[in-house]
Amino acid sequence: EWVNFVNFYHRIIDRFEMSKEQNVTFNRKLPDHAIFVEIDEDKMTQVLYNIISNALKYSPEGGQVTFSVQEREDQIIVSISDQGMGIPKENIGKVFDRFYRVDKARTRKLGGTGLGLAIAKEMVNVHGGAIWATSKEGKGTVISFSLPYERPEEEEWS
Ligand code: ATP
Ligand code: MG
Repeated sequence: EWVNFVNFYHRIIDRFEMSKEQNVTFNRKLPDHAIFVEIDEDKMTQVLYNIISNALKYSPEGGQVTFSVQEREDQIIVSISDQGMGIPKENIGKVFDRFYRVDKARTRKLGGTGLGLAIAKEMVNVHGGAIWATSKEGKGTVISFSLPYERPEEEEWS
């Protein structure tokens, strides 16, 4: 269905902000106008839930998590960035694979099955988008995904 992605994203962030137990600050860089995209709300909730859960799980005490949406010509780009341990360069291509977890020793105590990002990728692909990660070890991680978007026609002034 057609959904105002900005409101939808705010609502999901609100839920995490109310229930989080970590000492992590949230920053929102969302447009103040509506952006209508055609999405399956349940699937998109799952995508955001999986990515945001990771951002919190891998954040340090006092870290910041930043949420943003950028409008491009024919897509929007949604990003979640954290200041956590990061992902080593040589592993970054694998984090969207099923059951893949970076360095078992490092993440063992944090728990998880290694499915969250694989599911997110599948759901983003169903929507015709792409998902990717950029990261600096020890600095943090940014998970971004795109969604097809048709910019509303510009008003003509003649
Ligand atoms: P699950 O989500 O199934 O509970 P998981 O979080 O380990 O388990 P994914 O969400 O698929 O699995 O992530 C895969 C791996 O990528 C993680 O185990 C972790 O090593 C790494 N990873 C994912 N997100 C981050 C992040 N924000 N910061 C650092 N490492 C991350
Ligand atoms: Mg996860």
